[in-house]
Amino acid sequence: MEKLIDIRGVRHTFRTRTGLLPVLDGLDVAVDEGGFTAVVGPSGCGKSTLTRLIAGLLIPDEGEVNVHGERITGPRSNVGMAFQNPVLLEWRTILRNVLLPLEIVPTKLPRKEQEARARRLLSLVGLEGFEDKRPSELSGGMRQRASLCRALIHQPEVLILDEPFGALDAFTREDLWQTMHEVKRQEPFTGVLITHDLREAIFLADRVVVLSGRPARTQYVLEVPDTGPRDLDHLYTAEAAEMLNLLRHQIEIAQGRAPAETSAEAPAPPPGAAARGMH
Ligand code: ADP
Ligand code: MG
Repeated sequence: MEKLIDIRGVRHTFRTRTGLLPVLDGLDVAVDEGGFTAVVGPSGCGKSTLTRLIAGLLIPDEGEVNVHGERITGPRSNVGMAFQNPVLLEWRTILRNVLLPLEIVPTKLPRKEQEARARRLLSLVGLEGFEDKRPSELSGGMRQRASLCRALIHQPEVLILDEPFGALDAFTREDLWQTMHEVKRQEPFTGVLITHDLREAIFLADRVVVLSGRPARTQYVLEVPDTGPRDLDHLYTAEAAEMLNLLRHQIEIAQGRAPAETSAEAPAPPPGAAARGMH
């Protein structure tokens, strides 16, 4: 598969009032066209900084961020983003919140079609009938669904989800995972998901990148085997258990709670899952 996003050898240091803060040092992340890459790593290691690199909001000190083989040199408009806090505007209806990005960055799509698209997206995520409600009338999970529609309204080439389900309860979160699969089937995008939830990572993504503690480097990459249409039962298979153990172990290394082994001692990847340690 062709790489849509190719981040290589990225290093970046923030200059803060109290001194230099190296945040990225040896970051390599590849996202295939149409693929879904999850990124996990300790808090504060540089995950959100990585999303800003992809959106072109931050140009790294060293290394390359390529999209479609072209070096990113400034902000990109064909990137959709959703965050843990959906930040919907209370004085707008849900429909008008979803339409907001089209007012900020206008499209050629006639107004009627814009609205039809917004309504179609809302119905795709299960919010049909809530178009005219205000954000405060919706539950947290529903607000996150609306925020997803807003991120998709421009048909972005890349959808970046920065811990979007982190504040939701477990059942709501699992519902949203299934919605995400359905959305990806009907509204194809190339996705980058930042998450702390390893089950979420292997359920949604085809590749999981583990970052080390700050400054973040790519510590480990797990390729999740394609199991076809996924349902939650896939998370309770022996294969899934092995992948989760492996990732948990890598996170412990990233957090400095377990020693890094040489690759010869590293646990073997589960059958069908290709893994590479990065050093
Ligand atoms: P994560 O998303 O993995 O929790 P971030 O990428 O948000 O981590 O931040 C990594 C580190 O860089 C944190 O210590 C954060 O405080 C710092 N940081 C992020 N953005 C800036 C900035 N613009 N200027 C200075 N420091 C920053
Ligand atoms: Mg973050």
